Amino acid sequence: MATFGNLTDRLADTFKNLRGKGKLSEADVDRTVREIRRALLDADVALEVVKDFTGRVRERALGHEVSGALNPAQQVVQIVNDELVTILGGEARRIEFAKNPPTVIMLAGLQGAGKTTLAGKLSKWLAADGHTPLLVAADLQRPNAVTQLQVVAGQAGVAVFAPEPGNGKGDPVKVAKQALKFAKDKQHDVVIIDTAGRLGVDAELMKQAANIRKAVDPDEVLFVIDAMIGQDAVTTARAFQDGVDFTGVVLSKLDGDARGGAALSVASITGRPIMFASTGEGLDDFEPFHPDRMASRILD
Ligand code: GDP
Repeated sequence: MATFGNLTDRLADTFKNLRGKGKLSEADVDRTVREIRRALLDADVALEVVKDFTGRVRERALGHEVSGALNPAQQVVQIVNDELVTILGGEARRIEFAKNPPTVIMLAGLQGAGKTTLAGKLSKWLAADGHTPLLVAADLQRPNAVTQLQVVAGQAGVAVFAPEPGNGKGDPVKVAKQALKFAKDKQHDVVIIDTAGRLGVDAELMKQAANIRKAVDPDEVLFVIDAMIGQDAVTTARAFQDGVDFTGVVLSKLDGDARGGAALSVASITGRPIMFASTGEGLDDFEPFHPDRMASRILD
């Protein structure tokens, strides 16, 4: 995966240096941990995550908890793999569908993070699985947002609920509530609400998103974050966690050649699972996220 290319190479070099060693001395472990630490920091992983990560790797590598069937180099790879799975959230988590439909999924994130595109991807994926999603245009901030969602809905072949044009800016909370009623009437079993985002975290828009959350009581609130965001991942994720208390994370633009630190920091920092990954502009460039598979890809 392009995003982790450099990290993968750096870790591979580190592990190569351990090959052929009969037993690892404390100095070997410390050198290895230092190299891993540098590789993660250079990949833009947040410092606090790196510290925890390398602390656990060191402790486990110095202990003798790993299978005797593995040589020391393999043991370190195994430990790093396990710890990567842990910081990526451990178990994969799926959408929790409501017992009484519709299941309401709200999307939040900075402008340009990939929310509208995700609305299309997610709805197409759900429709292929037999669901009847309704996309809701509650981003009334950006002039083109409603049209963009309509285009995406057309491509995905799903229905869209949008305020009438010419209504001025409109009230996104009202639109979201109306959409819910519409979904019940028309028997849409999933409602996906696209909300407004700004280039930076914005108190007013965060309040708007929080009000939408309060009004529609979503089953899932997905925070969409651009994997290219780098070190800003921490402050952005924390602001959205405080603002809308999201239930899951979607990583977008994992196809880019950014350094991937956001991907490796955000689950661990917020304690919320990464649920989906977006890997391109096309509606099919999207997959459920599996921490173990991602860890294997990074260590490939
Ligand atoms: P929003 O402002 O959060 O709704 O973001 P958009 O969905 O409009 O996406 C912003 C830009 O990023 C658009 O040009 C999308 O085509 C592009 N984009 C979205 N997701 C991805 C992705 O996973 N990979 C790539 N390469 N581009 C993406």
